[in-house]
Amino acid sequence: QGVAPTPPVRRPRLTVLSGPSGVGKSTVVAHLRTVHPEVWLSVSATTRKPRPGEQHGVQYFFVDDDEFDKLVANGELLEWAEFAGNRYGTPRRAVLDKLSAGEPVLLEIDLQGARLVRESMPDAHLVFLAPPSWDELVRRLTGRGTESPEVIERRLAAARIELAAESEFDQTLVNTSVEDVARELLALMEIV
Ligand code: 5GP
Repeated sequence: QGVAPTPPVRRPRLTVLSGPSGVGKSTVVAHLRTVHPEVWLSVSATTRKPRPGEQHGVQYFFVDDDEFDKLVANGELLEWAEFAGNRYGTPRRAVLDKLSAGEPVLLEIDLQGARLVRESMPDAHLVFLAPPSWDELVRRLTGRGTESPEVIERRLAAARIELAAESEFDQTLVNTSVEDVARELLALMEIV
């Protein structure tokens, strides 16, 4: 006889924010960074060209195809994926260093990347950011004004498929308000 010990509550140290392109992942993350600058965010490498205002080492490490090939070949990426004609990947070392220091880590990556993280790090907590509606997603993707019609078309096609993946995730947050989603993420990561 006896009471089984309560298993320790394990807080998710590695949180993955994913969802369709245009749903507002990077806006949420940018807001989170404004409110809590101490939260460490992984900076991905990408072969995409910088958008106006984007800086090397801040939003992304902007690299060319050869450099990206080298990162892949040297095993320096925790995961990588091709998205709308460009490659994106999470530098492995920085993430593992933070995790072993016991610090929370937030990744903002596409759906393929989220699946790869789930495979290599089963303890990761996968959060799906959903748009309030399909029309709203189209409006956001079209309204960004930085992409050509072809690129928007490709991203919408990807988004249509990606929306169906919600069930693979541990949790869904609906992006009705950037502030609310950021707050929920922080609570989830036990930062506030
Ligand atoms: P964007 O070009 O709009 O900055 O990003 C396009 C997509 O790539 C977004 O869905 C974004 O979350 C995703 N992404 C950004 N960094 C990474 C990464 O390191 N790995 C993966 N798999 N996707 C990423």
